[in-house]
Amino acid sequence: MLSQPCCLNTHLTCAVCIPIFLPLTVLFLICLSRSPEASLFQWPPPLPSADQLWDPLAPVLLLGWFALHAVIYLMPLGKVSEGLVLRDGTRLKYPINGFHGLCISGVFLMLLLGLGAPLGYLFELLLPLAVCAIAVSFLFSIYLYIRSFWAPSHALALGGNTGNPLYDFFIGRELNPRIGDFDLKYFCELRPGLIGWVVINLGMLMKEVELRGSPSLAMILVNSFQLLYVADALWNEEAVLTTMDIVHDGFGFMLVFGDLAWVPFTYGLQAAFLVVHPQTLSSLKAAAIIALNGIGYYIFRQSNSQKNQFRRDPTHPSVTRLETIATATGKRLLVSGWWGLVRHPNYLGDLLMALAWSLPCGFSYLLPYFYVIYFTVLLIHREARDERQCRAKYGLAWDTYCRRVPYRIFPYIY
Ligand code: NDP
Repeated sequence: MLSQPCCLNTHLTCAVCIPIFLPLTVLFLICLSRSPEASLFQWPPPLPSADQLWDPLAPVLLLGWFALHAVIYLMPLGKVSEGLVLRDGTRLKYPINGFHGLCISGVFLMLLLGLGAPLGYLFELLLPLAVCAIAVSFLFSIYLYIRSFWAPSHALALGGNTGNPLYDFFIGRELNPRIGDFDLKYFCELRPGLIGWVVINLGMLMKEVELRGSPSLAMILVNSFQLLYVADALWNEEAVLTTMDIVHDGFGFMLVFGDLAWVPFTYGLQAAFLVVHPQTLSSLKAAAIIALNGIGYYIFRQSNSQKNQFRRDPTHPSVTRLETIATATGKRLLVSGWWGLVRHPNYLGDLLMALAWSLPCGFSYLLPYFYVIYFTVLLIHREARDERQCRAKYGLAWDTYCRRVPYRIFPYIY
């Protein structure tokens, strides 16, 4: 519950402004990526005409895409895992078949390409698709808000029930809204938006082929790096069951919009940018960028796996040789290995990858660096929030960890 008035006011201002500001930002960034200047500071900004914003094909494609993934979700593929224990002592079951969803989507797209479907048309459809995804996010969040009033009190998120309709709509009232066994939050978290992101990237690549006969090295790198990231997230889908999004946060506009509109339409801006602003990349530069992405991925995957393994089974041979410190909660903290390098090695790896996704776009424009700049701010803020929670949870043991491992994300810098 929000108790302090100034805190409430700040949160309320965010809850009112963000649903207006962020959708406009998505549309603005797409418009910029295809304007010749592609400057974040250009004035007046490039405004789209009404017919650029709407195409009747967009809602058909978007709803068809959601339906395809809903069907895959319901197919008896992969294993079924249990989430963490809920307040009423029960545990929900989740199908772990997101990676199947990616593979089936891949086969489906290859078939479409084989049949001559003009996938490059996604470039023209990008704005109408984003408009529809934003509209779906609003309508879906309103549905979630209304249905939450029929949910039992133990099914509500602790942070999303202040009584202020705007704030609760934004943060989300219900923790795990479901239709039967179909978990709406878990479904949206990694599937239609995340897989949609790499499909949009493929569409941009095909547009480049249409325009220039073959995809550029820069476009191939951006597509491959981001596909690796998405495939990794889906391969490790089970890990999402212990994240803050699933465990603590209600399902409201913030998550819905983030999953369905923000991620697919802003994370892949580099590919859309490259269609209009082609870049030549020497083999040497490409090799350096591939190495950077490889190093980032290695740090990201190894550190996340090390902590997940340690939390799941601290007696596993891969983690028993690591140094740890005890905490009053009974849980231990790693102070060597990746978690002895900095306090958030997984963020470090993620940020190195984010930089590698922008570098193929050269240094003449700031726009392709939007993701790495936004992501740095997001992860610094997330790190501070996690740090506060860990200090509250582990007290003195956390202070000892901070003394042993003084840097948060970047060794010797931050
Ligand atoms: P983390 O995986 O970083 O988990 C933080 C938690 O880990 C802490 O709350 C604590 O929980 C535990 N922990 C912290 N230090 C230690 C230690 N020394 N030893 C053992 N356990 C420790 O959380 P996130 O969900 O923020 O990040 C997960 C991944 O997702 C990251 O790689 C991140 O980069 C990525 N991410 C990507 C985003 C995107 O948009 N692309 C957005 C957000 C995250 P406890 O002790 O309770 O287990």
